[in-house]
Amino acid sequence: MASWFTHPAVPIALSVGLGNKIIPIRLLAAGVLLSILPDLDLVLLQFGASWSSVYGHRGFTHSIGFAAICAVLMAFCYRQRSMVALLFGFLVVASHAVLDAMTWGGQGAAIYWPFSEQRMLMPNRSLPASPMSVEQFMRWGGFVLRAELKQVWLPLMCVALAFAMSRRIVQPKLSQLLRGRTSELWRD
Ligand SMILES: [Zn+2]
Repeated sequence: MASWFTHPAVPIALSVGLGNKIIPIRLLAAGVLLSILPDLDLVLLQFGASWSSVYGHRGFTHSIGFAAICAVLMAFCYRQRSMVALLFGFLVVASHAVLDAMTWGGQGAAIYWPFSEQRMLMPNRSLPASPMSVEQFMRWGGFVLRAELKQVWLPLMCVALAFAMSRRIVQPKLSQLLRGRTSELWRD
């Protein structure tokens, strides 16, 4: 798995890129929690689920099906902006499986569940898998975080900031243009 410090990079980047009018702080906070929710499957292992079954680690909770369920629940809880919450929730939960499938440790993620239980890995697996115990994390967590910073946080935040800046430049001009057009139509 990618580390729990890095899965929240996706909701944070979406919030930076789209702005807090579209992704308010409450929705962002829910997104940060949702981004690590798929790893709750580690609890199922304690109840006897086998590692490689669909209930094991990177099984059904790391899939588009689980992302869709979480997105619907998110839309239900956030009814004022249900469509935004639905899309945001889906992207955040689905991104967890994609990030895990980019690691070069551990088994693949059941991304296409419930349509397929096959475990998938990305062709380009350049992220080290995060250690699963505190003791191991103390030993080589720094190496994992450095790689994630370089390969996940940095590119995501660059795209988000570029998008936020272009939004600030383009949006006022676009609304100015539209206002001009509307008044022209009224004059006609
Ligand atoms: Zn995971």
